[in-house]
Amino acid sequence: MKIIAIGRNYAEHIAELNNEIPDDPVIFTKPDTALLRNNEPFYYPEYSKDIHYEVEIVLKINREGKYVAEKFAHKYYDEFAIGIDFTARDLQQKAKEKGLPWTLAKGFHGSAPISSFRNKSDFKDINNLNFGLKIDGDIKQQGNTQMMIYSFDFIISYISKFITLKKGDLIFTGTPKGVGPVHIGNKLEAFVEDDNWLEFEIK
Ligand code: MG
Repeated sequence: MKIIAIGRNYAEHIAELNNEIPDDPVIFTKPDTALLRNNEPFYYPEYSKDIHYEVEIVLKINREGKYVAEKFAHKYYDEFAIGIDFTARDLQQKAKEKGLPWTLAKGFHGSAPISSFRNKSDFKDINNLNFGLKIDGDIKQQGNTQMMIYSFDFIISYISKFITLKKGDLIFTGTPKGVGPVHIGNKLEAFVEDDNWLEFEIK
């Protein structure tokens, strides 16, 4: 199983980090050891002083796919979750300045907490889904999948041109605006529509 993520998929988030709207999707990966499940706590690592939350919708691939046409991409996922793409912003900033990869800034232990998965057929339209993140009860991020620059189906089609997707692979689909730092003691709650799907603590 692998985790593939898209960066810069919501215009207002691109603006808040002073990034440019990319010509093509920005793709990176995380190792499977980044996953945190079952609302396990996240342990703040000693090598960063600026871990940021990024709440994202996460697709689970249900079959192998290579060169998937965009019009068939919807057949390649039935389930989705909500997750956090934790980012060591200080390490990422250094890497960006030197044009180096983001691997350590994105792939560290526990950098991918996810909720349990739900079936997309239980929702009216997952391309019009409200989701977001609360920290200690305050809403910090709020977005709708309609605001994505690249749709779920386009992302699957695009990635599968380069990387073969396999059953069980996860795709983090980008974060809306409002990213910021977490601190030890924070309680994070990621929600879809009106329900909390993921709740955990920073330790
Ligand atoms: Mg992200």
